[in-house]
Amino acid sequence: MGRLKLVDELKTILAPERVVTNRTVLEQHARGESFDEAALPDVVVYPESTQEVAEILKYATENRVAVTPVAVNSSLEGHTVPLLGGISLDLTRLDRILEFRPEDLLVVAQPGVTYPQLNKYVRRSGLFFPVDPGAHASLGGMIATNASGTAAVRYGVTGDYVLALEVVLPTGEVIRTGSRARKSSSGYDLTRLYCGSEGTLGVITEVTLRLSGLPEAASAARVPFSDAESATTFVTNLIQAGVPVARCELVDANSIRVVNAHQGTRFPEEMTIFLEFHGNPPGVAADLRLAEKLARDSGALLFESSSDVKERERLWEARHNMFYAAVAANPGKRNITSDVAVPISKLPVAVSKALCAHRDSGLNGYLVGHVGDGNFHIVTFFDGDDELAKVEQLNHQMVTFALSIGGTSTGEHGVGVRKLKYMELEHGGSLELMKRIKRSFDPHTVMNPGKKIPGVN
Ligand SMILES: Cc1cc2nc3c(=O)[nH]c(=O)nc-3n(C[C@H](O)[C@H](O)[C@H](O)COP(=O)(O)OP(=O)(O)OC[C@H]3O[C@@H](n4cnc5c(N)ncnc54)[C@H](O)[C@@H]3O)c2cc1C
Repeated sequence: MGRLKLVDELKTILAPERVVTNRTVLEQHARGESFDEAALPDVVVYPESTQEVAEILKYATENRVAVTPVAVNSSLEGHTVPLLGGISLDLTRLDRILEFRPEDLLVVAQPGVTYPQLNKYVRRSGLFFPVDPGAHASLGGMIATNASGTAAVRYGVTGDYVLALEVVLPTGEVIRTGSRARKSSSGYDLTRLYCGSEGTLGVITEVTLRLSGLPEAASAARVPFSDAESATTFVTNLIQAGVPVARCELVDANSIRVVNAHQGTRFPEEMTIFLEFHGNPPGVAADLRLAEKLARDSGALLFESSSDVKERERLWEARHNMFYAAVAANPGKRNITSDVAVPISKLPVAVSKALCAHRDSGLNGYLVGHVGDGNFHIVTFFDGDDELAKVEQLNHQMVTFALSIGGTSTGEHGVGVRKLKYMELEHGGSLELMKRIKRSFDPHTVMNPGKKIPGVN
């Protein structure tokens, strides 16, 4: 269909000022984070209600126009690039909290609400939504990628908090999945199917989330080790000992080095584990004592800890500032972040192998990991096509090794475009069933084509 006709017809569904073809806006919707390929949509639309989303999807399916849902656009694997042009469906204006029921520990919100906005809203009630992927992501984007982040080792992933959804199917039909009960054995679990669906099965227009109680006390520690093997062995021992760690992050020596250079700090430039414990005061003190013993047994060079809020922030500073320090240390270079997760006992070998390969390649790579879950990332900076080919080779080795030891090609960032090539290797025969699910929800493949499941366009 011609672009002019498409735009004119969309203007009969939405107010004309919310149907945008301005070049700058199209370019903002042409690419995602950490992914080079770009493709302009024909038009960007800003619905403000479920009804409007339904009319857009009905129209798109009837006219075979591709639709790419997008919210904060912080996903890292090319999820939001409108590969076939068409409609970029910007959900950021669906941004209202609709109902808060502290007595049921739940909240109902539109998908464009970000998790920091949600936490600000519910904070006074002593509740919070504990999933923290770092970037100020939207609830819809987090559900669609099944995001997790630093606190997943204690609190779980986004999907663990989704009780119910309202979803617009590609035909424009509006369905509701799940209930307000905290558990259910009824029907097939369609709510969970939408967790990690990456906008390929419909558009989430309302979310019901359960919340957690804010912990009474917290403590933090920073623990440097002389090598990756000892640091990750400590993590494995800590988890196996059943210590209820709330956050457990690994940052490699290279990353600490750029943080020191960037902000003038003098953190030991070693492989470092950052820890946080949540609970009541005697509980977190006991957790710290046990963690310190296990750390020293694994060869920790130092164990610095505190329960004081300001001091805790200081202990975690290097972790929080790592990404921006790495960008500053590599001016003008592009970067790619890769993400794998492995069984916890295989973490030492997977991390050591990835770091050695990076060192041998001569590229600047920075490793961070939510290692309490066996999940780690390397951000690699590069310039030009030769270096890009090297980064791709390094990431390929990391993913295929993770798969060979029973891990996954993506612990939390999702498949998008870049991980499509591993789906067959990872899922074998069940990939065919996934294709059938996709086709039965979206027979004309208008929803985010070219993502998540290979070979269904
Ligand atoms: C610096 C940085 C750090 C990060 N750290 C982490 C981390 O620690 N853990 C982690 O898990 N991720 C992390 N990410 C990745 C990213 O923040 C997550 O993938 C996040 O969940 C994306 O949310 P978003 O609102 O930006 O979604 P978008 O990027 O806008 O969209 C993501 C996907 O969701 C789909 N989508 C969006 N809204 C809807 C909807 N309402 N209905 C249906 N589909 C929809 C889109 O089509 C797309 O496929 C990081 C990103 C950055 C830039």
